[in-house]
Amino acid sequence: MASAKGSTTLFLLVSLLTIIQRPHLKCGAQEVIPIGAIFEVGTDEMQAAFRHAVAQFNRMNESANGRRYELQAFVDIISTADTVKLSRLICTQLSRGIFAILGVVSADSFSTIHSYTNTYHMPFFSPWFPEKVPVPTSGLMDYALSLRPEYHQAILDVIAYYGWKNIIYIYDSHDGLLRLQELYQRIRPGSNNILIEMVRRVENSREAIQFLQTLESIDRYGRKFVVLDCSASLASEIIIQHVKDVHLGRRNYHYLLSGLVMDDRWDERVKEYGAINITGFRIIDTERPIVQQFFRTWESLDPAIYPGAGKPFIPAQAALVYDAVTLVADTFNRMLKKKPDTFRSYLQRNKGDPLANASRALNCSRNAVWEQGDRIAKFARKVRLTGSLRFGEDGRRENFTLSVVEMTVNSDIVKIGQWSEQTRFQTVPAKYVRLPATPEFEKNRTYIVTTYMEEPYMMMRKTEGGEELTGNDQFEGYCKDMMDLIAAKLGINYELRKVKDHRYGNENPNVTGGWDGIIGELVRREADMAVAALTINSGRERVVDFSKPFMDLGISIMIKKPVKKFPGVFSFMDPLSKEVWMCMTFAYLGVSIVLFVVSRFGGAEWKIEDSHVAFTPIAETSNADNSLWFALGAFMQQGSDISPRSISGRMVGAVWWFFTLILISSYTANLAAFLTVERMVTPINSAEDLARQTQVEYGTISSGTTLDFFKNSKFAVYSRMWEFMNSRKHVFVRTYDEGIRRVRQSKGKYALLIESPKNDYVNERYPCDTMKVGRNLDTKGFGVATPLGSPLREQLNLAVLSLKESDDLARLTNKWWYDRGECANADKQETTQNELSLSNVAGIFYILIGGLVLALAVAFFEFLYWSRVDAKKNKISLTEAMKAKARISITGEFNHLHHNSTVS
Ligand code: GLU
Repeated sequence: MASAKGSTTLFLLVSLLTIIQRPHLKCGAQEVIPIGAIFEVGTDEMQAAFRHAVAQFNRMNESANGRRYELQAFVDIISTADTVKLSRLICTQLSRGIFAILGVVSADSFSTIHSYTNTYHMPFFSPWFPEKVPVPTSGLMDYALSLRPEYHQAILDVIAYYGWKNIIYIYDSHDGLLRLQELYQRIRPGSNNILIEMVRRVENSREAIQFLQTLESIDRYGRKFVVLDCSASLASEIIIQHVKDVHLGRRNYHYLLSGLVMDDRWDERVKEYGAINITGFRIIDTERPIVQQFFRTWESLDPAIYPGAGKPFIPAQAALVYDAVTLVADTFNRMLKKKPDTFRSYLQRNKGDPLANASRALNCSRNAVWEQGDRIAKFARKVRLTGSLRFGEDGRRENFTLSVVEMTVNSDIVKIGQWSEQTRFQTVPAKYVRLPATPEFEKNRTYIVTTYMEEPYMMMRKTEGGEELTGNDQFEGYCKDMMDLIAAKLGINYELRKVKDHRYGNENPNVTGGWDGIIGELVRREADMAVAALTINSGRERVVDFSKPFMDLGISIMIKKPVKKFPGVFSFMDPLSKEVWMCMTFAYLGVSIVLFVVSRFGGAEWKIEDSHVAFTPIAETSNADNSLWFALGAFMQQGSDISPRSISGRMVGAVWWFFTLILISSYTANLAAFLTVERMVTPINSAEDLARQTQVEYGTISSGTTLDFFKNSKFAVYSRMWEFMNSRKHVFVRTYDEGIRRVRQSKGKYALLIESPKNDYVNERYPCDTMKVGRNLDTKGFGVATPLGSPLREQLNLAVLSLKESDDLARLTNKWWYDRGECANADKQETTQNELSLSNVAGIFYILIGGLVLALAVAFFEFLYWSRVDAKKNKISLTEAMKAKARISITGEFNHLHHNSTVS
């Protein structure tokens, strides 16, 4: 867009000259080869790749003594295709004495540069050619070289591979139209029957979506194959909008991106929404060590200086620019190697001054040509850079290989094949290849079904008489029954086979296809289907297709049932916690003291007994012994023959009785529970408990999704658990049976992380000594798996769903789990400890304290009241009466003066 606008309206030429070379160039010490570069604006990443390539080359030059020169680049950035201004710019470049020129420009500017470079014999390196490049007059050499290969045939071959007949072609540029023409020309009628049914040029993603919507309104369910010829950003925009659009189908679409856009890192959203098939081409072979090394340095660069760097990937265009510089440098290297003084006469005058070459510089107004141009261009064509770079006479690349990659439903990008001119399209052996669309599966065919032996999903059937069973009859179990139902629904035959390596399946680079176990057999297409307790996860979904889940589950913890704990001799203490016992003791002492004090000071406690010695006053609870005794009697629910008589004393008595009533009844209630129930204390109750300790070891089976779950978990508890397990490899077990045996035998010192249905099943089996604790750690499902693109898939999905809806699966669960249970009567008791804590009984303490304080207050008023009565009776002052009364209260001595007054 920007360049189109620039070329029509702006007519402005911005020429930013940047010179890239080593800053500390020593005069005369180094020979410098100047090269020119012209970039269009908006090519930041490509400029970064260019600068990086030049800098890298010059840096390496410093260390390797073999080289004798370094590159000096004159970079111009243009914002228009105005021919006159561009011509002037090229002339300036030529006048600098450059040895070769690199142009990263659009089609319009390309032709101008191209004709100049051919006129002046200036080797012109371009990362790509526009679709139509004017051919120089016959016999004349073309000085231009394109790093991007032409691969129209690859597009057609991929279309043929998928078996697409009707194509929808969407493009966004003039070049796209030219490519379409080229495709038209290559489709030979009759040979491959490809029909480009609809063509549309779009300016933006909205237009593309509108176009697709109209198609959709005409044919809602038909499969649509769209060839998208546009930039990576527009392509990802279109696809994101497509998946967001509720009116557009997903599964019935397949996009083929014809540009080299798969090298770009795709917008995460495309992957997130997924659910749409995308195929495309890649030119960067990420598996080559040299490419990996490049990514390492590219990633370490500062993106502020090198836009687009700092990431472990690079768009194809930028990579081609990098390759162009490498090609230039390599050409000079080889020329110098062959004849070290090739450039002597051109370099000797160079004193580090960029214009020092001016003496041999080209002048547009004169007729001279670059004398070495011919040789450089020819040498460049002969260069065999990293084995694969080769050019034809027309300057186009030959002998190249493109990777054909697929982005499948919610998946990463996977390579499905490669294309080269010699071999044409070839699938990559046994790696996640989506089968070419086959409409119908064959009924009555016998499909191979791989399975994993695991109780109660799939077991060997035992017969009473011990007779030999053959075929599918050898098996029984939940999955066997389900498979029978599915086969009946689909009208197919099947043959069950045990998975050879007895594994569910994890990624494993050492086996063909990259996966082992059941998944590996599907990937390698050794089986047509897998029916087992096979968990659906994203890693597997990338390489095989799963049906909708037939059973829901989660990872759970299995431990050995703890041995029952019998109550000890002091278990009567158990119903109350230690604090309660302590507080109670203090309460008892406190109550006794308060009772004693209030009885002393409250007057009514003096009881005159008719003893032999006239009137001997005896204070009942106003005696410390008695107070203690009264309180104890009350506490023990026994009562005593002494009791307080003053109001305050009785108040103390009342609250204490209340207190003891509640406490003792709570105690009794709890005691019953404690003494009759034998308690089971489980040391582990959750994953957090496991993660927190190291005494009880825990593990998973060594090939399955549970292991993957912990390995990939970002959640702190689970990743801590993974570290624990990973540091002790012996915690992993090969099969669940081995793990369960270990749980049973290791006296509670081993817990197994196991999928919940199996956990439930084992807990129902003799000897009933295992149990499940805690919540499930995640939620997922088991699914029936088929190789990618299997024709069975759709029907299988429907079959599983209808079995679920018709309760057939629920019936099977009952049959295999609960009807066969062997632990029906095993006790399932509460395992929590339930002693009363202080907070449970704090209320009665508050009441007790409140009552005691109130009693003290009342005793004080009683004291005042009786002192006043005394004072009045004996005609003494109130103070004296109080003093006298206090004396009696404290000493307990009763004198005559008060005899009358205090006897009531
Ligand atoms: N069902 C699991 C799978 O499909 C295996 C069991 C596990 O990992 O715990 O891999």
